[in-house]
Amino acid sequence: MVEITPEVRKQLDEAKKQCPFCKIIAGDIPAEKVYSDDKIHGVLDINPWVKGHVLLMPKEHYPIMPYIPAEDFKHLFGKLPKFVKALKKAMLSTGANVVIANGAVAGQQSPHFLIHVLPRESGDKLDLYGFGKKKEIDDSQLKQAVHMLAQNLPIMMNNHFQKNPAEWRKQDFRNTKHLYEDEKVICTLPLNPQCVGHLEVIPKDVKDFEDMNEMDSAHIFYAASICATAVFEGLGAQGSNIILKTGHSGDNDGKVSIHILPRKQDDGLELTGKPMSSKPDNKKVAAKIADETYIVNLKEEKKMETIEIRREAEIMSEKIEKKKPSSNGIASTGDPRKDEIAAAIEAASR
Ligand SMILES: [Zn+2]
Repeated sequence: MVEITPEVRKQLDEAKKQCPFCKIIAGDIPAEKVYSDDKIHGVLDINPWVKGHVLLMPKEHYPIMPYIPAEDFKHLFGKLPKFVKALKKAMLSTGANVVIANGAVAGQQSPHFLIHVLPRESGDKLDLYGFGKKKEIDDSQLKQAVHMLAQNLPIMMNNHFQKNPAEWRKQDFRNTKHLYEDEKVICTLPLNPQCVGHLEVIPKDVKDFEDMNEMDSAHIFYAASICATAVFEGLGAQGSNIILKTGHSGDNDGKVSIHILPRKQDDGLELTGKPMSSKPDNKKVAAKIADETYIVNLKEEKKMETIEIRREAEIMSEKIEKKKPSSNGIASTGDPRKDEIAAAIEAASR
């Protein structure tokens, strides 16, 4: 992780003045907003690869992933499962990808760190992340990389846990057959590596990404980020892509995993989507998504309360229909709070 010293802070503040995404967050450049809380801002991509293509970004200006401090990292990646769930619901999609490009060589076009969130379904023509074909890879280079990663990843993860202690971490997985393993993830080579250093982080016992809690989601992205740093430092990569696959689409069968691919100039990998030929009506799409994402940052108790009030309101409205109207037009339930809810529903439906 990059330490934000006063000098780095100064550089970031300078970069911020020129950054179009900081201007979008400030509201100085218009964009179709789909989500916002105290740390995250989400808008629709103006050149979507698929319908409902969202750009989620930290409100602070960070150029690449390693700059994001722990608190912001945990919030951003902790909220992702609920965000993906809301996005899938809004777009009626069966799967999703979360795509991160670190560095221009990996397809990063913005000076501001962005997360692409893509609702996916079969036949959506975005066939980039299947990784089904074997690529020609130098065997001795691959072996060297595996050796380097098996040595370094556990050390790097250990350093990470020293800075961010985790209560659940009790077991010692040193003699694992994977490059790295802990209670929650394994890090391994994918079935068909697309380049030397292509890694896969697989969460244990997880069926749907969107059901993961905040801590577990932040952890798999920490593991992916540390893999990206390891290939960046150890294999001389110039950038990296981090790609989460979940649910069903033309290039995924329901499995949840994160691919990490080190990138070099002219490596022949195609991991960035192309703008759709006929653009969807982003205004309508944004309204649909924003209708679902309000739930992302609701606290659990608050969510329960909201659901309870909604349920009560539903029961009340059924009762009102059955009962005869009283003098004010609304049947009394005998409970002042419920009467208030009933009156509010009545007022809203007029
Ligand atoms: Zn910015």
